[in-house]
Amino acid sequence: MHAAHLIAEIRTLAPDADGWARHEKTGRACAVCPCGLNTGFISIDQAAETYRSHAIPGQKVRITLGGGGEAMLSLIRHMLRKG
Ligand SMILES: [Zn+2]
Repeated sequence: MHAAHLIAEIRTLAPDADGWARHEKTGRACAVCPCGLNTGFISIDQAAETYRSHAIPGQKVRITLGGGGEAMLSLIRHMLRKG
């Protein structure tokens, strides 16, 4: 079963002067699918290209924001197992 998912990587920045948490996109993303596809974090262009060539035509694009690193990837793997 294919249900490709695009995860845009974000990183946490130091809080601003008022103490609000801030995040910014890193320019990297990861394409994953329950069938085992997992590109790891690569450039958004490459990840989007992999996603497009993998997704079923007409499939709704699913983009998630998430932090990078091994903790995020193990969370993704856990999410995919649940589905
Ligand atoms: Zn797949």
